[in-house]
Amino acid sequence: MRSGATSPNRAARRPAEELMSRLKVGGLTRLTSIDYPGELAAVVYCQGCPWRCRYCHNPDLLSRQRGDGYDWDDVLAFLKQRRGLLDAVVFSGGEPTLQAGLADAIIEVRELGFKVGLHSAGCYPRRLVDVLPLVDWVGLDIKASPERYPATTGVAGSGKRAWLSLELLLSSSVRHEVRVTVHDALLPRGQLSRLLNRLVEAGTQLIVLQACRWHEALDGGIGRASCDWITTELLDQAANGQPAQLLVRP
Ligand code: SF4
Repeated sequence: MRSGATSPNRAARRPAEELMSRLKVGGLTRLTSIDYPGELAAVVYCQGCPWRCRYCHNPDLLSRQRGDGYDWDDVLAFLKQRRGLLDAVVFSGGEPTLQAGLADAIIEVRELGFKVGLHSAGCYPRRLVDVLPLVDWVGLDIKASPERYPATTGVAGSGKRAWLSLELLLSSSVRHEVRVTVHDALLPRGQLSRLLNRLVEAGTQLIVLQACRWHEALDGGIGRASCDWITTELLDQAANGQPAQLLVRP
């Protein structure tokens, strides 16, 4: 499936505009039961992300260009063979909404009969709006309160974008979950509690706390993290009696 000698030839025959809008794929998981709730799925890892989160565990997917990526046509050919065997295809990353070709790729996948999931950090709210009507489920990462985003992402203004994406998602009818990655140093207990309250106040119904994969982090000095200290008491207090569902994903 990885692009080989045939891909550049195929690429050379395509108009430049079409090539620019083709999805850049950095990786593919052929079967997973944990990336789309309740469905067997394949995951397409989109190449490129504008942020540099200290705990990012996909550093190979951050650059916009990659020499050893997958050709989108090959991914489609694989998916055609999986009709009837897989329920869904998840676009993950990197950051899928970085790419101009995302909507077209989603449409092609829908035409094959798959449900479509999207993992996003909300980096590009406008593109998120464009694809929301095309997807069945979204997992949106919210990393911190807006003003605290740059400490994690390294990018000024990233919090405004992510929280606008949250607002847009919450006002849509698309099924979703909001994911918060927990690391004691980046999101200490008090901040986590305030963040959860803020998410609930914004109208978030399902929040998933996930442990930071600190041992694979982009910033090797980030240190150890675990979810062990997240207690039921903290979750109850954070939810503040409102109807948010809080799950912990180890
Ligand atoms: S937004 Fe996601 S892919 Fe991008 S740097 Fe952060 S964790 Fe990595």
